[in-house]
Amino acid sequence: MKARMTQYVIEPAPQASLSVFGDDTDFPIRRIFCVGRNYEAHIVEMGNDLREPPFFFCKPADAVVPNHASVSYPKATSDLHHEVELVVALGAGGSDVASEDALDLIWGAAVGIDLTRRDIQGEAKKRGRPWDMGKGFDQSAPIAPLVPIGDVASLTEGRIWLSVNGTTRQSADLADMIWPVADCISYLSGLVALAPGDLIMTGTPAGVSALQRGDEVTAGITGLPDLNIKIAE
Ligand code: MN
Repeated sequence: MKARMTQYVIEPAPQASLSVFGDDTDFPIRRIFCVGRNYEAHIVEMGNDLREPPFFFCKPADAVVPNHASVSYPKATSDLHHEVELVVALGAGGSDVASEDALDLIWGAAVGIDLTRRDIQGEAKKRGRPWDMGKGFDQSAPIAPLVPIGDVASLTEGRIWLSVNGTTRQSADLADMIWPVADCISYLSGLVALAPGDLIMTGTPAGVSALQRGDEVTAGITGLPDLNIKIAE
């Protein structure tokens, strides 16, 4: 029997992707998982319990915006927050992956911002509703070019910071993560089967605050290319 090419009834969406630092290739994105509450000082500033295990939420793959993008101030909020995060991209998948093996799944790393509609997220928390509309909106995941893992200095130490119009708002160290990257991957792989193309945003340190139209935002992690975005006027 002859294989039949799938005939889609509408045009399929373009493949979401991240550019790879230093060449013309792209990394295809499958899913975006985000870790909640992974730095102690941020947990304290949000008034949450330090003893909780990590938990996860998702953003759509096509929420990614590239470096130097102008991001529209999102609909339905008056409290848009920045959260600088280390992003890892998986080149291999797996279920129930041990922490000792988890770093083997990583293809590369990048600097990202988990943009958050804090007012919508706060209302969802209060009412026990899902976080999706606070976290997974259009253009909610600016991510800098991805660095292949062999060229990444460290996933466990190095400064992580974010500035707005030249003023530092977030400054911490990757070593401050409660659940290191390997543990995040291992834990998440016990909840879903991870797959090549998955991104994991590994949580933000303290200092989250509101962005305004016209703000210039720069975020960095030692050894990775900076991320620059502008919130459109
Ligand atoms: Mn976050």
